[in-house]
Amino acid sequence: MERYKIGLIPGPVSVPTEIRDAWKIDYASSDLEDEFFTLYHENQTLTQKLLHTRNKIVITSGEAMSILWAALKCTLKQNEKMLAVSSGLFGTGFAEMARAFGVNAGVCEVPYDEIPDAQKVYDHAKNFRPKVITAVHCETPSGTLTTNLAEIGAIAHELGALFVVDFVSSVGGVDLDVDACNIDVGLLGSQKCLSLTPSLSISSISQRAWEVIKSVNYSGYEAYKDWEDVPEIHYMPYTHDWHSMKALNISLSRIMNETPEKVYARHSEVAKLCRDFGQEMGLKLFPKSEYFSSPTVTAFYVPENFTWKEFDSALRERGLAIGGNYGVLAGKVFRIGHMGNQADYELVKNGMNVIREVIKERA
Ligand SMILES: *Cc1c(COP(=O)(O)O)cnc(C)c1O
Repeated sequence: MERYKIGLIPGPVSVPTEIRDAWKIDYASSDLEDEFFTLYHENQTLTQKLLHTRNKIVITSGEAMSILWAALKCTLKQNEKMLAVSSGLFGTGFAEMARAFGVNAGVCEVPYDEIPDAQKVYDHAKNFRPKVITAVHCETPSGTLTTNLAEIGAIAHELGALFVVDFVSSVGGVDLDVDACNIDVGLLGSQKCLSLTPSLSISSISQRAWEVIKSVNYSGYEAYKDWEDVPEIHYMPYTHDWHSMKALNISLSRIMNETPEKVYARHSEVAKLCRDFGQEMGLKLFPKSEYFSSPTVTAFYVPENFTWKEFDSALRERGLAIGGNYGVLAGKVFRIGHMGNQADYELVKNGMNVIREVIKERA
């Protein structure tokens, strides 16, 4: 399928027309024009407001994986210690990525249908003494939300570690207070709750983190070090994507105009509809408790009398696209992405109706 009739993939999500309009303009050079830096600065300010932070915001081109790498490579050197707090594939993924460039990475893991246990993190970290602790706010593959980030952030700071958090698939759909959670490096993608194309990445970086970034002094395409004062010095390490920067401005303005409170309420309401409707038709929620479930994505077990492939094909025949899974969850757990533009009551209801039809046909 080139386009989805009913698109409920947990990212990339459908991009609203108002945002796509950003590509109608034949923009000048982002390297040369004051207007670009003004727009960049405006997006920094809007993002700070969304994240409740005074930390500096860095907006780079490239999909979110580019800043997951940046956060690790810019804060850690070979043989240094990192602890990945994990309740899912992205959580453990941080450790695998760091090991790939020689970091001594430990994992503090709980089953993927749960959320991290702060006491376990404290015990592990106190023993291991990592330079960096990583965590994931919404574990998209598990459909869970780590609601105790503030506790983990407090532990990181008590033990003198930097706190790096992937909030790629939560911010914009869930309220998160970056400063209250002591998040030193926060990572946000464009193609999830912000309903943009997978083209930009947004990082919030604390003063403590900037100091570490300067001492590590990593160079590379994704390096943070030359982004600290971009709007002030009017100089960037590479030509930026003005169209996406404009699209981000439209997206953030839409959230501010609707008001973040209403946006979060809309996500919660639609998530509840999805969970209730799914359970009513006999689907089993993947998260062990409904309280672990994220307002941005719902994960259910694949119904027993289907393989994932059969289930997915039957849904696709009716125009519905949902997310499968990866790693240990592949073939077992599927996801419905109701984030950003897809946090829409009617859309989710239509999608769930299709799932009900397909299940009924087999029963
Ligand atoms: C989507 C996502 C990313 C980026 O991963 P892609 O698979 O490249 O889209 C990173 N972290 C989380 C938690 C995500 O949901």
